[in-house]
Amino acid sequence: MANRRKFLTSSAAGLALLAARPGAAAPAGPRANARGKALVISTWDDGIAANQAAWAILKKGGAALDAAEAGVMVTEASQNCCVGLGGNPDRDGIVTLDACIMDHQFNCGSVAALERIKHPISVARRVMEKTPHVMLVGEGAQQFAVAQGFPLEPAQLSPDAEKAYKEWLKTSQYKPIINIENSGNRKTGPVGGPQNHDTIALLAFDATGNLSGSCTTSGMGFKMRGRVGDSPIIGAGLYVDNEVGAAAATGQGEDVIRMAGAHTVVELMRQGRTPQAACRAAVERVARIKGAAAKDIQVCFIAVNNQGQHGAFALQKGFSYAVCNAADQRQLFKSEYLLK
Ligand code: ASP
Repeated sequence: MANRRKFLTSSAAGLALLAARPGAAAPAGPRANARGKALVISTWDDGIAANQAAWAILKKGGAALDAAEAGVMVTEASQNCCVGLGGNPDRDGIVTLDACIMDHQFNCGSVAALERIKHPISVARRVMEKTPHVMLVGEGAQQFAVAQGFPLEPAQLSPDAEKAYKEWLKTSQYKPIINIENSGNRKTGPVGGPQNHDTIALLAFDATGNLSGSCTTSGMGFKMRGRVGDSPIIGAGLYVDNEVGAAAATGQGEDVIRMAGAHTVVELMRQGRTPQAACRAAVERVARIKGAAAKDIQVCFIAVNNQGQHGAFALQKGFSYAVCNAADQRQLFKSEYLLK
């Protein structure tokens, strides 16, 4: 719960760390990372709850990968419009989930269009750890999940999602709402809710200096059946290069995919940019590609480099993200944005 809305500016938060050298070669073996530098960053206000679950692992010296998985599981289990089985369905009335996970050694796993499974992030991790593949989709992903012991949940919409879907059927127009998480309580309106968000993406930096990330969503509400966004695509919704940093995206998935969003942010950090500057440059690229249509979409990036310096940037106003470290587990930042 984001009851302590302590908004800070990301640039101010980053000042103390500006001397860090993103992209610097890591020493051989585990990087020295004073435990105090361990960090979790995630998208949206709900990220505070996710961050706390991740932090419970990091503060005991646990691995970034475990933290990345455990954090977003909290959001997957909560009933909200845009992550997990409580999410809004596709235009045929079916909830389909996308998720991916990546560790500090370029291991990655992903599921897309997965139905009736409560924790797609954990299935993505199993794909990473138990199969020779990176990505499983649809029926095959579900078959694998069941074989791995994940229970098949009932094929029914949450009461809120059902209401939102009925409302949507009145027009049947696909018009994603920018910053849906800020659009009011779904109980009193068609979509959204103060604690809702489109996607939870979470980046964890652990006490040994390793990075991992996770990303999970029900995707754009009322999307075409079979539509997959950026969130399960390694390099678009999430990318981790332990020698440089990690990045993740939320917003209009199609526009993140077309410029390989998270990978682009990591490459921009490799060139020497701070996480904040890298996120900004990536958003500027989206704006250049979209031209006048940029005003109709939202795209946001979060990033952390291999020194534990973090940043974020959005195309439009309204994106907030949560940060957790030893000093404060409930920090909430209002992101800077491009289109004023
Ligand atoms: N990126 C997600 C998708 O396109 C949705 C979002 O984050 O708003 O499916």
